[in-house]
Amino acid sequence: MPEEFYEKLAETRHYIHAHPEISESEFKTTAFIKDYLNELGIEVFSYPLTTGVIAEIGHGNPIIALRADIDALPIIEKTGLDYASDNGAMHACGHDFHQTSLLGAAEILKMREGEIKGTIRLIFQPAEENFQGAYQVIEAGGLDGVSAIIGYHNNPHLKPGQIGLRSGAIMAGVEQFEVRVQGVSSHAARPDLGVDTVLVITSIINNLQQIVARTVSPFQSAVLSVTHIEVGTTWNVLPAAGFFEGTIRTFNPVVRLSVIDKFTKVVESVAAQFGAEIAIKWGNSPKVTYNDEIITPLISEQAKSYSEVIETLPSTGGEDFAAYQEQVPGVFAFVGSNGADHAPDWHHDDFIVRDEALPTAVTYYVESAFKLLGYYGGESDS
Ligand SMILES: [Zn+2]
Ligand SMILES: [Zn+2]
Repeated sequence: MPEEFYEKLAETRHYIHAHPEISESEFKTTAFIKDYLNELGIEVFSYPLTTGVIAEIGHGNPIIALRADIDALPIIEKTGLDYASDNGAMHACGHDFHQTSLLGAAEILKMREGEIKGTIRLIFQPAEENFQGAYQVIEAGGLDGVSAIIGYHNNPHLKPGQIGLRSGAIMAGVEQFEVRVQGVSSHAARPDLGVDTVLVITSIINNLQQIVARTVSPFQSAVLSVTHIEVGTTWNVLPAAGFFEGTIRTFNPVVRLSVIDKFTKVVESVAAQFGAEIAIKWGNSPKVTYNDEIITPLISEQAKSYSEVIETLPSTGGEDFAAYQEQVPGVFAFVGSNGADHAPDWHHDDFIVRDEALPTAVTYYVESAFKLLGYYGGESDS
């Protein structure tokens, strides 16, 4: 990457980093991206999105989508960087890096427009952190006509120049549950006259821990964590109601459905045993980020020409990129962004992404787009 171009991208990232906006409030970020693309002569389309930008380079089929997320987190930054944010929000997940690399890719693709046989759709997606943005983009028609989609997340545990990839699950399916339990209040000294909500909740939680231990294959994996319980107010009254919440993480769509099904059965049957009423509420969270088994090896093979490709383990975190992969084949990679021994993880107030990682991210977008245009356009070598 020419020095001047690299400097421009690093400067762009620092600007975006210093002006973070949280999910569904990315108004200035949206305006910044639109201006940037306009300046490059790239057509921005008016999709019904409150925040986020969709633009295209080239025309006709096939359409290959490149996606970057643009939102920040409500975290007070403590990196001490000279371009640190001071507005109470922080790009602590590195989405400043993602959108900058897509802007960089856009500039290169625009220069190489003559080579594009089809369309490259750029999706600057809002609201990844609250898992709503991908659904908003799909609802707005942003995935219409798309043959395949490319995305990535920076990974601070890989070095700049490294790309982590695998076919199948690369990020977990996330379930968020909340269970409300309704018993019957009584004096603590007369539990026989009530339905003891405390005992119902603790019994349910004990039984839930049997699901992963005793129904998930030893060759598969899942996590079920209850993280918050509220029940009762004092020592001599058995409370009428309470609730608990938590999360399930899985990496296989079949295991995911099985664990959800068993969860429901355990909660219902234990509550029924005591005569308590229950209501289960599931959050709107992403399914498994599942890399297509046909196109992922193509992208992985090609990435070896410009980066060090690492067969990565899946992350137990979730990504709403999964929503796109439910509709079209997609590839989601990890792009190395730090690699220091104790590099802070995503969502930490001292999280740092290194600019030196930008060229690999830009090349990943550009080369993957051309690879898939060739593949879906019927060329064997592109
Ligand atoms: Zn995040
Ligand atoms: Zn993120």
